[in-house]
Amino acid sequence: MKPIELSFEFFPPKTPDGVDKLRATRAQLATLAPKFVSVTFGAGGSTQQGTLDTVLDIAKDGVEAAPHLSCIGASKEGLREILAAYRSHGVRHIVALRGDLPSGMGEMGELRYASDLVAFIRQQTGDAFHIEVAAYPEYHPQARSPRHDLEAFAQKVKAGANSAITQYFFNADAYFRFVEDAKKLGVDIPIVPGIMPITNYSQLMRFSEMCGAEVPRWVAKRLESYGDDRESIRAFGLDVVTDLCRRLVEAGVPGLHFYTLNNAVATKAICERLFP
Ligand code: FAD
Repeated sequence: MKPIELSFEFFPPKTPDGVDKLRATRAQLATLAPKFVSVTFGAGGSTQQGTLDTVLDIAKDGVEAAPHLSCIGASKEGLREILAAYRSHGVRHIVALRGDLPSGMGEMGELRYASDLVAFIRQQTGDAFHIEVAAYPEYHPQARSPRHDLEAFAQKVKAGANSAITQYFFNADAYFRFVEDAKKLGVDIPIVPGIMPITNYSQLMRFSEMCGAEVPRWVAKRLESYGDDRESIRAFGLDVVTDLCRRLVEAGVPGLHFYTLNNAVATKAICERLFP
């Protein structure tokens, strides 16, 4: 299969051990020559410094690193400072999100939706950043309706987004339909599928419940049946996710974005199977 553009997502490590582990993970994935990597951001600012530090650490190796930035709970002044810090360090690529407030954190902030953040970044910094936004082939859990969600997505593009990364999904048809529907609304930016490797049943079910991604019943049942047999979970997960990626690549997707959870093994195994 012809190689396509790959990108990898990491989270900012919280401990020195985590920093070392992420460096090792990055070294393992470097052979796959990602187009860029991205670093998540804790809404409410909890990992603000960690995101910047991680992005700078990655950039030292000559790899393009895109920080995520969320607006929920943030002030315009605070966002301006973060954008200025990124610019001063030569960062030119950003993933703009609304974010989710950790429970108990009250203030919504000055910008309500990701589309407001995209417009704000454009207003403040012109074309300084390539802006990515999130897309939801199975719809965002808080969306009023699928139609509203698609329109909200189109709004982010109108506000100035250059490309999009989807929430992970296991149903390729949901993605294909979403892309078609978005096109009908005039969206013509690349929509890159977000891929979640399967390595852990309970973690996958918990994440999917929170973010509104559907784990097909046959996949969930099989994973559940393996109990503590992590090897079987990994082997089955590798088959399922590689098949999904193969279908997407054959259909001509613009790239694949892997949610690595700071682990190289599963992402590397999938990519090596796809592009031997
Ligand atoms: P929005 O696009 O603003 O949408 C949020 C909700 O509001 C949707 O239901 C939408 O339909 C609705 N909506 C939007 N505009 C309007 C409007 N004008 N009127 C009415 N309703 C509207 N979270 C983090 O905290 N940190 C991260 O680093 C992070 N990285 C992510 C990376 C990717 C690729 C993805 C897919 C998600 C990521 N998330 C992250 C999760 C994300 O923050 C949540 O899914 C959040 O709930 C929504 O963010 P959004 O940018 O999609 O919001």
